[in-house]
Amino acid sequence: MDFFTQDIQFFPGVGPKRAELLKKELNIRTAEDLLRHYPYKYVDRSRFYMISEISENMPFIQLKGKILRFEKVGEGRSQRLIAIFTDGRQSIELVWFKGLKFVTERYKTNIEYVVFGKPTLFNGKYNIVHPDIEILSQLPTVEQMGLQPFYNTSEKMKTHFLNSKAIQKIIYSLLFELQKGIPETLPAYVLNRYGLLHLTDALINIHFPKNSHLLNRARQRLKFEELFYIQLDIVKQTAWRNQRFKGFVFKHVGNYFNTFYRDYLPFELTNAQKKVIREIRADVASGKQMNRLLQGDVGSGKTLVALFAMLMAVDNGFQACMMAPTEILAAQHFESLKELLGNIGLRIALLTGSTRPKERAEIHEKLLNGELNILLGTHALIEETVQFKNLGLVVIDEQHRFGVAQRARLWSKNVQPPHILVMTATPIPRTLAMTIYGDLTVSVIDELPPGRKPIQTFHFYDNKRQALYKFMVKQIELGRQIYVVYPLIQESETMDLKNLEEGYEHLSEIFPQYKISMVHGKMKSAEKEAEMQKFVTGKTQIMVATTVIEVGVNVPNASVMIIENAERFGLAQLHQLRGRVGRGADQSYCILLTGYKLSNLTRKRIETMVNTNDGFQIAETDLQLRGPGDLDGTQQSGLPFELKIANLAQDGKMLEIARKTAIDIIEDDPQLQKNENIILSEQLKKMKTSSLNWSVIS
Ligand code: ADP
Ligand code: MG
Repeated sequence: MDFFTQDIQFFPGVGPKRAELLKKELNIRTAEDLLRHYPYKYVDRSRFYMISEISENMPFIQLKGKILRFEKVGEGRSQRLIAIFTDGRQSIELVWFKGLKFVTERYKTNIEYVVFGKPTLFNGKYNIVHPDIEILSQLPTVEQMGLQPFYNTSEKMKTHFLNSKAIQKIIYSLLFELQKGIPETLPAYVLNRYGLLHLTDALINIHFPKNSHLLNRARQRLKFEELFYIQLDIVKQTAWRNQRFKGFVFKHVGNYFNTFYRDYLPFELTNAQKKVIREIRADVASGKQMNRLLQGDVGSGKTLVALFAMLMAVDNGFQACMMAPTEILAAQHFESLKELLGNIGLRIALLTGSTRPKERAEIHEKLLNGELNILLGTHALIEETVQFKNLGLVVIDEQHRFGVAQRARLWSKNVQPPHILVMTATPIPRTLAMTIYGDLTVSVIDELPPGRKPIQTFHFYDNKRQALYKFMVKQIELGRQIYVVYPLIQESETMDLKNLEEGYEHLSEIFPQYKISMVHGKMKSAEKEAEMQKFVTGKTQIMVATTVIEVGVNVPNASVMIIENAERFGLAQLHQLRGRVGRGADQSYCILLTGYKLSNLTRKRIETMVNTNDGFQIAETDLQLRGPGDLDGTQQSGLPFELKIANLAQDGKMLEIARKTAIDIIEDDPQLQKNENIILSEQLKKMKTSSLNWSVIS
């Protein structure tokens, strides 16, 4: 074991107590972990400011001067301590609300101090609250200080004197001791190709940058390293899988495909649909197993593309299945495919959690003996008991709703894995897709079927309710239907349900002349389906629902989507919900209702919705507002390693370079056995074991 991987407790300034805290609070165990605990910000300590220079919105600054006197102001809890500090020309107040006794004992008048903090404007004057104070003569000169790092710590660490400054000190002495012992993690030829800093230099300059230029170079190097190893891992595994598993070959475009295209298809395919069908066709004929991600905005017609792919399977003697995240959606797929396929002679079935045992047994049997061609359903499809005779293609609709583990189970349903087509309407920005689904090829439907009018979106506060009701009447008189959606958040389900039910009753009172459906997650599925069916067939004019209708539901005559408490939804969800309308030829509307008090982030989300219908743009904004980890539940677990410094929303270009580099290397040396690549396979192995350990521990 080298120095780099040693337990931190033996390093100067650490010891068993602090080591324990670092482990518990920040998962830091080794010298390397500590050095990879990068600062979250830097403060320029390379110059002193004059008090006269202070202006609004300044970051942390440092001043040089003396304390003239102390004053205690106020009584009891509101008591505070003020020090009048002068730089020789002007003065400013330093303010403390806590630790007054400590401050008065510690700091003296007439000593040259460096005061460090963020000026704030209070009662027309600037002051600095709880500044950092150091004795000038004990500090390195400003030329030596450069940029000062700040580190994340926890409350608990702070109460044990492990604040940012303490961490800074530990890292400083660690770097000093380790300098020659830090092993490089990238091969020399990669460093040279992109002019990257060596790891040692990068670590020194990420913690103690002399200037911002060196800080940038350190960042570049460390970001590249992170993104590169993620890509290397994905690319290597994909290469291995492609080599190991052959895909079924769908040799011909046959009878069903052609007949359906010629005689059954009720409209022209869009060019984007045709393009994607060709891409799928090339995949399934190639002899490699297809792993394709189909991205297409809500309403772009992905279901139809899936149907064509399933027909390719059937034409070649294989079975196909399509999995949807909700029973409502699975049932809807079943109904619409049945209708589209008419009397073409295919046998399709629906399997969900609420399929009756007798019917279920029958489906199982017909799958095994090959009588069924196409199976639609929910998670029920991946149960152990569901066995196919020869499953050739699996379609996963709205894939973001499924966990990685669930997908993996489908992967392993056959000895020889079927072709996989995953579809999503939550457009994942390209950079994110490359990272998380780096092993999937991506197709995009970037065109909506003709004749659709862009949905108009409005933001209303509660005071517009009366006007909104008038608008609803007008739309219903025009023959349209309306969704009213309420938020449902797991923790407070009962309360939300109450909102929903009250909303339902309220609307029933206001609109006695109309019929209203209601759907929520707590209903039995037969009940849900019956309510849904009433809306689909136009028997009800208004559908009051929770987000169970969020994905996939297709009622082209519904042209108004009203979202209550829109501030409680994320951007992706709002966009999905809006996608329930705008599916027919009529002008559609989306109304976002919110309270008056909105945070900046919420305001930005609502604005984005009002300003654009473009799912990709919305996804980009979402990524920027929330950060990639949050995007949805599966994303984080999709990343093989944690990102500490790279940012998927911002480092897209570097990610592409990292990916390209990884591809080149794996093409040339798939097992990373060449001398110059040993460093890569060892580092990958090391990262894998340590990331494995985390998951076992936490
Ligand atoms: P999504 O991509 O959101 O899953 P769907 O597959 O549900 O969209 O399709 C939305 C609607 O558009 C459906 O009613 C479907 O029949 C219709 N549609 C699909 N393709 C076309 C097309 N090429 N021309 C006209 N309508 C289409
Ligand atoms: Mg769909």
